[in-house]
Amino acid sequence: MQSCKFQNCKNHAVFNSEFCWNHIKDTDAYRKKLEAMVKENTSLKGANLARVNLSTLDLARVDLSEANLSRANLSDSNLFDANLRNAELLGADLTNSDLTSSSLCGSDLTRACLRGARLWHADLENSNLIEANLDYCDLWNARLPNTRFWRTNLSHAISLSKKNFRCKASKFSDTYKINEKGALSSEDAYRDLKKYFLANGRYNDASWAAFKEKTMERMLLKKKKSIAYIPSAIMNFLCGYGEKPQRIIFSSFLMIVFYAAMYAVLNAITYAQSAAYIMSKSDYIYYSVITFTTVGYGDFIPKSSILFRSLAASEAFIGTFMIGLFIFTLARKYSAR
Ligand SMILES: [Zn+2]
Repeated sequence: MQSCKFQNCKNHAVFNSEFCWNHIKDTDAYRKKLEAMVKENTSLKGANLARVNLSTLDLARVDLSEANLSRANLSDSNLFDANLRNAELLGADLTNSDLTSSSLCGSDLTRACLRGARLWHADLENSNLIEANLDYCDLWNARLPNTRFWRTNLSHAISLSKKNFRCKASKFSDTYKINEKGALSSEDAYRDLKKYFLANGRYNDASWAAFKEKTMERMLLKKKKSIAYIPSAIMNFLCGYGEKPQRIIFSSFLMIVFYAAMYAVLNAITYAQSAAYIMSKSDYIYYSVITFTTVGYGDFIPKSSILFRSLAASEAFIGTFMIGLFIFTLARKYSAR
């Protein structure tokens, strides 16, 4: 890239000029020239347009891929269907710009201002939105999978939902995620998303973000080899941090089968009416269910040994805990919080 011709200036010269933006004498003429070139479908791929004032320009469908637009002024510009793949937009001003259907895949929007911008159907996969300002930015149907979020101002973003984060997965299962490379920053990002969804009444989306936030926390604990990883992993397995009631049904089922197997192996249970009764597999399962749910009919009883009685008591204890957890999770998930 050519350097600016101005004495001792270390900046690179901007596209189609010998000077950097600060040292171009007639900036209006430069803008007009650029506008004319755009009208003739000149590609601006990889162009250096750092700090250039492109405000209010019509840049619809222009190829700006890999262009350097760091700190450029693109406010009120028309970027409809523009190609901004892998563009550098560090600290760029995109206030009130129209980015409908534009491609921003892999672009760097760190500290960019997207206040009031329209991003309908825009593709931001793998882009970087660290410390970007999304106040009143309309993200209706925008794609944000694998996007880096951290300290991104989301509080007044419009039409943001879990759907924005859908990754192209298999036919049967969709995954929804942001860029999770840094567990610490991703935990913060998911917390911000959770707050946004809760504030906007999107409780199912908030549940997804809350689960992801806890998952990031667990990853971090694992990395640190912290002892707190174990209870976190157990809570994930049992109930998905209170966000997945179906996991409790599954783990309750496992627990009932496990206890039934223990009773059978230890020959711990007997029929209350007759000691000669031979226990079948279904009797053990039945006894396990009745104990787990703390119904306790008393038709089958543990043999009089401290071990067998403790085993049955521990199942009853776990059962009450799991049922309580199930009701809590269900209420949490399906009630308007
Ligand atoms: Zn210069």
